[in-house]
Amino acid sequence: TDPGTEVGQVGAALNRMLGHVEKSLARRHASEERLRRFAADASHELRTPVAAIRGHAELALRTSEPVPPEVRHALGRIEAESVRMSELVDDLLLLARLDAGRPLEARPVDLTRLVLDATSDAHAAGPDHRWEMVLPEEPVTVTGDARRLHQLIANLLANARTHTPPGTHVTVRLRVRDGTVVLDVEDDGPGIPPDQREEIFQRFFRVDPGRARAVGGTGLGLAIVHAVAAAHGGRAELADAGHTIFRVTLPASGE
Ligand code: ADP
Repeated sequence: TDPGTEVGQVGAALNRMLGHVEKSLARRHASEERLRRFAADASHELRTPVAAIRGHAELALRTSEPVPPEVRHALGRIEAESVRMSELVDDLLLLARLDAGRPLEARPVDLTRLVLDATSDAHAAGPDHRWEMVLPEEPVTVTGDARRLHQLIANLLANARTHTPPGTHVTVRLRVRDGTVVLDVEDDGPGIPPDQREEIFQRFFRVDPGRARAVGGTGLGLAIVHAVAAAHGGRAELADAGHTIFRVTLPASGE
């Protein structure tokens, strides 16, 4: 046979294969997109009924009529679980939006201020922990979404509080190095087992699922830290050096 014809046939076969690959990639892309939209819509739709359940439970608990203790207990449980569910729904919605690449606000944010506020809140919620801050003298500014950045810091501090015993030292350190803002949240608690360090930022990953649920987290805290850092052009990592150090790096605002 003519080698030219064979080359032509191989070329045509490769082309067909490439066409198939392209089509299946496009299909996969579309189905991922549908899944993302579904997650966003589902969490959005859940918000209203969950808020209603919570509102009614609160209302029923506030009644001046006598309520049998077991009913009061049941209402208290409904209220507590609906609070937890609304946190979960909010976290899911935020992640779905970040996944969809929704742009965040891009304003100058005083990160020093956010660290001060979040640490003071954490101190109020966990007075038995020893909180410490190491802040630079100059204010540290990044360009971004203040609410999301506050949530990022609050999540790391909540973890340092809930996943370590009372008396644990927690140090929040902020610094700027070569145009990069570095935020460290360090604690001297039990830490993350070495074989689970890779998975720690994954959604719903928990070192001790039973215990973590009992202390009340949504299991999405670190996934949000990771996604918010990435949405700001930064990153989040576990920078262990004997202690637990969660490190977030963000580009500093050029001023
Ligand atoms: P949640 O705290 O709601 O369980 P996260 O995504 O914030 O979810 O954290 C995932 C898991 O990582 C936690 O359940 C816990 O097992 C572990 N973890 C996070 N922060 C710490 C910490 N500072 N010390 C020990 N374990 C931690």
